[in-house]
Amino acid sequence: MYNPNSLKAEEFIDDAEILETLDYAQKNKDNAELIDSIIEKAEKRKGLSHREAAVLLDCTLADRNERIFELARQIKKDFYGNRIVMFAPLYLSNYCVNSCVYCPYHCQNKHIARKKLTQEEIRQEVIALQDMGHKRLALETGEDPVNNPIEYVLESIKTIYDIKHKNGAIRRVNVNIAATTVENYCKLKDAGIGTYILFQETYHKESYEKLHPAGPKHNYAYHTEAMDRAMEGGIDDVGLGVLFGLELYRYEFAGLLMHAEHLEAVHGVGPHTISVPRVKKADDIDPTAFDNGIDDDTFAKIIACIRIAVPYTGMIISTRESEACREKALSLGISQISGGSRTSVGGYAGYSPEERPHDTEQFDVSDQRSLDEVVNWLMKLGYIPSFCTACYREGRTGDRFMSLCKNGQIQNCCHPNALMTLKEYLMDYASPDTRDVGVKLIESEIGNVPNEKVRGIVVDNLAKIEQGSRDFRF
Ligand code: SF4
Ligand code: SF4
Repeated sequence: MYNPNSLKAEEFIDDAEILETLDYAQKNKDNAELIDSIIEKAEKRKGLSHREAAVLLDCTLADRNERIFELARQIKKDFYGNRIVMFAPLYLSNYCVNSCVYCPYHCQNKHIARKKLTQEEIRQEVIALQDMGHKRLALETGEDPVNNPIEYVLESIKTIYDIKHKNGAIRRVNVNIAATTVENYCKLKDAGIGTYILFQETYHKESYEKLHPAGPKHNYAYHTEAMDRAMEGGIDDVGLGVLFGLELYRYEFAGLLMHAEHLEAVHGVGPHTISVPRVKKADDIDPTAFDNGIDDDTFAKIIACIRIAVPYTGMIISTRESEACREKALSLGISQISGGSRTSVGGYAGYSPEERPHDTEQFDVSDQRSLDEVVNWLMKLGYIPSFCTACYREGRTGDRFMSLCKNGQIQNCCHPNALMTLKEYLMDYASPDTRDVGVKLIESEIGNVPNEKVRGIVVDNLAKIEQGSRDFRF
């Protein structure tokens, strides 16, 4: 029985409710009157229910679809302006006891090289990432209580935060590790993590169990209820995601939004981010083996509908996607992207931008450009690449963060912080061409800081950054 307030996975992600939602959406896919009323509700920028959003996703009326895309673009602009937050993944270990059939780290894969970074190797990786200009990382590790226990993850986080190399610093470490206990989530919270990210992979229980035939991840309920334990453990910001291609995308879309509704209902705060990965080629993984792959147009529609349904939730796209696909996704709702990513264990230190180790790669990277190239590209498209990490460092997390988002005040922080962190990047890491483009962009964007007093502080701080000071933030 569907109950968003329940703490039981099968009640807040109720299969019957999803099937009824999909049926309702199909029956109303060309119901102009209903679709118009949902679009009008969405225009109020307070979000949509999973049922309403499912109708928009299925809508077959060309003119209404154009309105949906236009509204997504407008909401993106209203909430996130032209800023794009940058991050990079850091793989610590690919030892894993699970058997996920879509991931080359599954424990039956006997030929893939297994690697776990030592603290010294982590140091080298982080220095390489700092030298690229990164300030925000997403830690990735397989599930293995012997090789990658929580103590290893905690020690690694401390190592990362402690490294101060030249002007570099990792200021926010987001963590993507397997579902764990409340006690371990408390430890991660105490270690100062930013967002705890855990992809559901699929919300379809039967498929989930087939795709995870053995190992602790086989337990659908334990995995699906992980965000509740994370929040119980004090982690305010959690990131959801599904792996599109495993199951029918319409099912996943409804499940994802029901999960968001559940977090809002129980904890008073929805997901901080939603990621939209698609199954990609990897070592012994062939994406065509999965029947439910989605084309680029469907992918764009999903992104637009998520943007409309949960306007306050950041959206992330990784280098799994190509430059062209990322460009389209940015305008429709994406607010964070990775750049210069390596998806192998120890893939940064000791390699030139052109070299790319494949031996421990989790998936093929489509967008293989360097961070400098991505930053340059974003600016030429009119975006401000932002290296901002201010919120969690200022205690703006969870419901405090969400209320600032909902009343629009967060914009007063995001825009100035984007300009100041971009300026740091230009001074410390950018190529000459990127610096030229960036300096002009900052000049033209200063006038867009609405508050005169704040604008004055930003101008002062930009001058101080030029003289060597760092880490200003609102
Ligand atoms: S997806 Fe995660 S849990 Fe599954 S095999 Fe890969 S690393 Fe292990
Ligand atoms: S001010 Fe907060 S919400 Fe805005 S970009 Fe920085 S960390 Fe993100």
